Amino acid sequence: MVGNDGSSPLLRELLERIDRVCRFLGIEPYLCQILKNCQRELIVSFPVKMDNGDIRVFHGYRVHHNITRGPAKGGIRYHPEVNLDEIRALAMLMTFKCAVVNIPFGGAKGGVVCNPRELSRREIENLTRRFASEVSILLGPETDIPAPDVNTDAQIMSWIMDTYSMHRGYSVLSVVTGKPLIVGGSQGRAEATGRGVAYVTQFLAQEIGLPLQGARVVVQGFGKVGYPVAKILGEEYGCKIVGIADIGGGVVCEKGLDVERLKEHEQKEGTVAGFVNGENIRGEEIFQVPCDVFIPAALEDQINERTASQLQCKVVVEGANGPTTESGERVLRERGILSVPDILANAGGVVVSYFEWVQGLQSFFWSEEEVNLRLKSIMKQSFQNCLAFSRQHGLSLREAAFAIAISRVAEATRVRGIYP
Ligand code: NAD
Repeated sequence: MVGNDGSSPLLRELLERIDRVCRFLGIEPYLCQILKNCQRELIVSFPVKMDNGDIRVFHGYRVHHNITRGPAKGGIRYHPEVNLDEIRALAMLMTFKCAVVNIPFGGAKGGVVCNPRELSRREIENLTRRFASEVSILLGPETDIPAPDVNTDAQIMSWIMDTYSMHRGYSVLSVVTGKPLIVGGSQGRAEATGRGVAYVTQFLAQEIGLPLQGARVVVQGFGKVGYPVAKILGEEYGCKIVGIADIGGGVVCEKGLDVERLKEHEQKEGTVAGFVNGENIRGEEIFQVPCDVFIPAALEDQINERTASQLQCKVVVEGANGPTTESGERVLRERGILSVPDILANAGGVVVSYFEWVQGLQSFFWSEEEVNLRLKSIMKQSFQNCLAFSRQHGLSLREAAFAIAISRVAEATRVRGIYP
């Protein structure tokens, strides 16, 4: 792949996976090459006025992996370790995620190298608006629609939408998803990724005869994915949330954590660490907490050979993107731990982003009940398709999900043909 220096294990392993799945499906080599490359990559460097009067230059990316099936869709991440190879890999995952749940989007991702914990809200707004201007040559409701990802939120989406709209001279609500409700957001979007993870956990639990009532759940990450999934599995499915960790540390409680009180604590302190109604642990100890369901909902490459061998769970449901490395997956397989892959398990976010986009384009908004019903129906259909394919071909759920996704993108490319 152009420019792939192997610095991102996620990208390297993803490219190998694409090769393997293409071989398995008998996909033409030219299609495999298309899928292993990103169609467009924009690298930007831009100045931002800081609160103390200094001007700092930041670096960012917006990558379109593949737009054969529809406009480029994918989140924007703010993190000190953002790099081009990571963004490429995450953009590829978006292409396959949209394909596996069969929504008409291609895959994109963006990011800015920064540590939002060291920036004031005003500095984040300045950075966001300037980044949005720099990548606006790609953005648009029919071309590229960003959404929140790690360390970005509804307010940041609102600033992107506003900046884009100022350039156009009118309001373009559907240029982003994950917006606040007051400016065209969708009911249910804030919890959608977590809700989708909860649905998939339910479908898998039914398949393996694991009663969710009283099931012990551990979640790594307590942000836009981790918090709703913990809340929904606890409140709506009767699970016991026995452990939660974030970047500052972890907290466990055998009887089940009070997720709402933990969120209040986290919002005050910036971390779950220090919560008094539970036992405090170091962040990396979260992998050793005995449970039925382990949900990684933080960053990529968390479940590796070492942590996979520590896990004491029956199943892993991937809330995060790329949380399991190849070697981690091998260990899970050897240990008989089932895993639902990211591109299927956390697709609820992009599914409701699709609903938000559709609602915005039609200026006709749905109730939360309708959003959740439609979400559940898509998640169920997609899960059943992957399960059936995996059983039919003796594959893991991940291999099945990638096979379904890759065959859909490949078929769309064949049908469209190669221009000119
Ligand atoms: P977020 O910024 O809202 O939350 C991230 C959480 O992870 C925080 O609690 C943070 O403290 C924790 N964290 C970060 N580094 C950690 C570490 N080293 N160890 C333990 N915890 C750590 O981000 P998010 O939107 O919840 O995204 C989490 C993951 O889910 C990412 O992989 C993202 O790409 C993926 N994802 C997000 C969405 C979405 O709709 N937001 C959709 C699909 C997938």
